Amino acid sequence: MIEVRELRKTYREVHALRGIDLSIAATGQIIGLLGPNGAGKTTLVEILEGLRTASSGSVSVLGLDPSRASGALRARIGVQLQTTAFMNDLTVMETLKLYAALYPQSIRLKVDTTRIQSVLQRVDLVDKAKATVRGLSGGQRQRLAVAMAMLHDPDLYILDAPTSGLDPIARRQIHDILAALKADGKTILLSSHYLDEIEALADRVIILAAGQIVADGTPLDLLARAAGASTLWLEVSGAIDPSQLVPQATFEGRDGSLFRYRTTDPTAAIVGLADSLRTSGAQLDDLRLKRPSLEDVYLQLVGAA
Ligand code: ADP
Ligand code: MG
Repeated sequence: MIEVRELRKTYREVHALRGIDLSIAATGQIIGLLGPNGAGKTTLVEILEGLRTASSGSVSVLGLDPSRASGALRARIGVQLQTTAFMNDLTVMETLKLYAALYPQSIRLKVDTTRIQSVLQRVDLVDKAKATVRGLSGGQRQRLAVAMAMLHDPDLYILDAPTSGLDPIARRQIHDILAALKADGKTILLSSHYLDEIEALADRVIILAAGQIVADGTPLDLLARAAGASTLWLEVSGAIDPSQLVPQATFEGRDGSLFRYRTTDPTAAIVGLADSLRTSGAQLDDLRLKRPSLEDVYLQLVGAA
């Protein structure tokens, strides 16, 4: 679906993309494009959409070169840009009809009122069909932007940070829409700077940092790259030496009333803890365990870049 080789993009002295190689073949997947602000996510997706031109390298989307065949390509992909300029005085229905009217006739004929109604249902805006865009909440506007991308029922979606700046409930509503698209077999390239949503939604995670891909794999692949240390917190009453309490973990210090340990083998650490509690007669008041998270991997990779 997408083939990118040695892609570079330079804005005057800014090297926004420094040699990107990317191949997306599978359908029915959500591919998360993750990276901090300025990493190059928007530059990359807008080159894929034919809205920006590459400085060098080759790009193919659905077998087309976006810089030459952007019209033909846009008929086949669903795009939601980082910011959508709405016409505030149009209603939701008028907005969708207007966008449908912009397509060539072959597509326009398929985007009839029935299709628009079904899209409105999918993004849960049926109640708002007659409301003006001006009166929509941030989340409703973003759902409308996704609806605009869905009108012509494309197989490939390229969505640039659709949940950016939304509250958790509004973000969840977008997540549900994307999960439903995926269940229909659509492929979605989803950029985001929220780790939790990529961890929850994406089948494959591509981490972009400073214009380069620093990781590419399933969320589990990436977790396996974490240094592997879990954190263990214990609250214990009794006269004990915290540094001797868990032989299989390294005592790191205190967080309030909790002792903090690092261990690569939490099971062994907890078995060892049980032994030392039994021999010392100390009492365990609280125990918390945190496995390495995608966030740990992300911070390592992005920090290094
Ligand atoms: P992201 O979407 O990951 O935040 P961008 O692709 O927007 O990243 O930006 C990547 C880098 O390119 C940043 O340093 C940004 O300032 C720069 N940049 C992006 N667009 C332009 C532009 N039109 N002109 C000049 N510099 C740009
Ligand atoms: Mg961006």
